[in-house]
Amino acid sequence: MLDLKMYINGEWRDSRNKQKRKIINPANGEIFAEAAEGTVEDTKEAIKVAKETFESGIWSEMPASERASYLFKIADKIDEYSDELVHLETTDNGKTLREARFDVGDAAACFRYYAGLITKPDGQTYHVVDPVQAMVVREPIGVCGLIVPWNYPLLMSVWKIAPALAAGNTIVFKPSEVTPVTPTKLFEILEEIELPKGVANLVLGAGPVVGNEIAESHDVDFVSFTGGTKTGKHIMKAAAGNVKKISLELGGKSPNIIFADADFETAVDYALFGIYSGAGQVCSAGSRILVEESIYEKFVERFVERAKQINVGPGDDPASEMGPLVSQEHLEKVLKYIEIGKKEGARLVCGGNRITKNGLNKGFFVEPTVFIDVKPDMRIVQEEIFGPVVVIQKFKDEREAIQLANHTDYGLAGGVFTVDGAKALRVIKKLRAGITWINTYHPTYNEAPWGGYKQSGIGRGLGTYGLEEFQEIKQININLQVEPIGWFSK
Ligand code: NDP
Repeated sequence: MLDLKMYINGEWRDSRNKQKRKIINPANGEIFAEAAEGTVEDTKEAIKVAKETFESGIWSEMPASERASYLFKIADKIDEYSDELVHLETTDNGKTLREARFDVGDAAACFRYYAGLITKPDGQTYHVVDPVQAMVVREPIGVCGLIVPWNYPLLMSVWKIAPALAAGNTIVFKPSEVTPVTPTKLFEILEEIELPKGVANLVLGAGPVVGNEIAESHDVDFVSFTGGTKTGKHIMKAAAGNVKKISLELGGKSPNIIFADADFETAVDYALFGIYSGAGQVCSAGSRILVEESIYEKFVERFVERAKQINVGPGDDPASEMGPLVSQEHLEKVLKYIEIGKKEGARLVCGGNRITKNGLNKGFFVEPTVFIDVKPDMRIVQEEIFGPVVVIQKFKDEREAIQLANHTDYGLAGGVFTVDGAKALRVIKKLRAGITWINTYHPTYNEAPWGGYKQSGIGRGLGTYGLEEFQEIKQININLQVEPIGWFSK
């Protein structure tokens, strides 16, 4: 049984109250780890350490190239421990081996990207009124509170930790209470490469306790949060106390628009990938498929045929193509939405059940599920289900496709399938969403910004934008003619 501790000021420790949380393998319901259950006092201590370490300058004033060398070492260690990380991620989150391998590889690449970026030129100079030279420099913000969800336990951690450290900040990091295992392994790596003590602090525990303290604390300068929109709204309010900067990467209900002229099999294939990869527990999941009416019946038929063939099973079985949901609680939420869909009058044409056969009865498995004959205002069309449940809607023309696509409070992502390039771009430009794809779905790149419009969030992660989130901008004005201004006569 793994015993997960918190990492504060370079020391591994249990929580003040010695309480532990049981960590469950979602593929079989077995407890495989215990994690320290952090308290408000533990969190305050981690924040204090992060503040003192920031002010000491040991990290914030270190030359960027030296900070970068630490980040490169972390990336190398992630590669070295890749098999272990893949195994842990699969056991804790339920991901298939293929999904976990992709995440671990991308995590190492993200550290390398920010290690490279931080040594590149930044800042600007301005031609203002003589004899003044104006310029802008970028500086670390200070203590950054990082809060992440359970769907990409390692990768979401890295998306925040890599740019935060690259920029010279110190951090207090909280993973989801459901999936603390790979984030804790990442902190073991930070210890192994001898990151200076106090720069990165890990507090395990519940959102309303540890997360809330991070969001409220007057000594935290920036909160970078990824999670649900409801929690994001809470963070916004909690952060107001000291007007701290926030960035929010929130939920989605993203449209995937399939035109009649699209390459049919490609569109079906990506539509399946868009919703069922990660068992639908992906913020950018293409959970609303919009299909042009002339190919609607054919599309639904083929999509359902393919969905039924998806091999659902434990993540650590190489034959599994879709794993379980992350927890019993989440399983119940998803099954409840399936019942809501039926009651709303949508037609269930695929799946809809928990899977209990073939030895899967102890895990949290749900069949790939498809609803058709939905109305735009139904809850299953409007609310984020975060499971392998998709609605397929019909549209008659480009105008209606755009109108249906934007008919949501969310604005995270969206895709368009058509071989008409001009139409593709026309539609994408009308989508109120931050991440979009043409004739593909889901790819994410460390180089490109990630984030949403509307209630899908504020700010952007990844790319140069993701680094800027973790930096303050300072204006410097230099008088090149050192003599009195003479504004007042005497
Ligand atoms: P939650 O919002 O429930 O939790 C996210 C994180 O916030 C967890 O660490 C959680 O801790 C913590 N938290 C919970 N309550 C509070 C609180 N009151 N104050 C501070 N922190 C709190 O989301 P889920 O973990 O359920 O993740 C799924 C959601 O994340 C989905 O909506 C998904 O769309 C979104 N997401 C968005 C992404 C994006 O890039 N836009 C990427 C990935 C996911 P704990 O787990 O301990 O409760």
